[in-house]
Amino acid sequence: MINLIGYSEQKLKQLFADWGVPSYRVNQVFSWVYHRGTKQFNDMTNLSKDLRARLADHFYIALPRIAHKTQSRDGSIKYLFELENGSQVESVWMPDGARKTLCISSQVGCRLACSFCLTGTLGLKSNLTAGEIIGQYLAVNEDLPEADHATNVVMMGMGEPLDNYDAVCDALRLMVSPEAMRISNRKVTLSTAGLVDRIRQFAQEDIHINLAISLNATEDSTRDAIMPINKRYPIKTLIDCLKKYPLKPTRRITFEYVLLKGINDSDEDAVRLGKLLSTLRCKINLIPFNGFEGSCYEAPSEERVKSFQNHLISKKYSAFIRKSRGTDILGACGQLAAQAMTC
Ligand code: SF4
Repeated sequence: MINLIGYSEQKLKQLFADWGVPSYRVNQVFSWVYHRGTKQFNDMTNLSKDLRARLADHFYIALPRIAHKTQSRDGSIKYLFELENGSQVESVWMPDGARKTLCISSQVGCRLACSFCLTGTLGLKSNLTAGEIIGQYLAVNEDLPEADHATNVVMMGMGEPLDNYDAVCDALRLMVSPEAMRISNRKVTLSTAGLVDRIRQFAQEDIHINLAISLNATEDSTRDAIMPINKRYPIKTLIDCLKKYPLKPTRRITFEYVLLKGINDSDEDAVRLGKLLSTLRCKINLIPFNGFEGSCYEAPSEERVKSFQNHLISKKYSAFIRKSRGTDILGACGQLAAQAMTC
């Protein structure tokens, strides 16, 4: 039996063609599953009894189970999900006025081992399926009142999305499909540590969401030390690849820069960062480090962060200091490690 949540539109159309069922039926099935949240094929009353029975023979419909919820003082909620294989992953829902952003995971753990990231300490345990990726979004929306449903999705939770390439692409296609989840592609962001070969491959896909790059250093020696993936894809290789990325005219690449005291936060770093990105249409999110137990890093002072930002602004960059959300529940960037916690 296969979970229909996450089963691609293309595959379902092919299956229906094999069954002699017209392809518009796929839209009807998707409407039941993704718009009405139906879990039983028998309830899909505009399908024939025969098709309902056939679907029930092949598929089931299930979302990841919410194992635990932790509410932050700032209004964010961290969800701990239990997957079918017993693994656990986290998503963080962050309200900001009308915008409700959901940060979702793509892997259990991560093999990239960035030294400032709690997820990276776990190593890679397993890849999520497309259904488990979009299931986080669907389950959170089912859990919250309609006014609080996620408006934006960022793939910045546990895992490196481009290291789970096929499942992530299937999930993204379903997210932005007008037949399935209908999320605007402007409201979906994939964040990568810079897997250059995969970025090149992703550029060829028919998926036009936002791209964010977790950069975090301006010299290879520093980036090698905090992001081992840099030894394979050094900064110049990454930037050269991004210069060729087929950005839509009104879009910008987002660069994430976690500021680590005494490591990558100097004025010289800010100057180098300004030069490095000078030919790219981009914006920069500065993220003062979010600590966790056992980490050897600290956040810079507010003054240092401001000085770093001011240099970038003086060079005409859009540079934002990103408010950390959910820091008290280890729900902030780089703090996810799938532990049930209580406030
Ligand atoms: S920052 Fe991202 S890529 Fe690096 S270890 Fe953490 S989850 Fe993996």
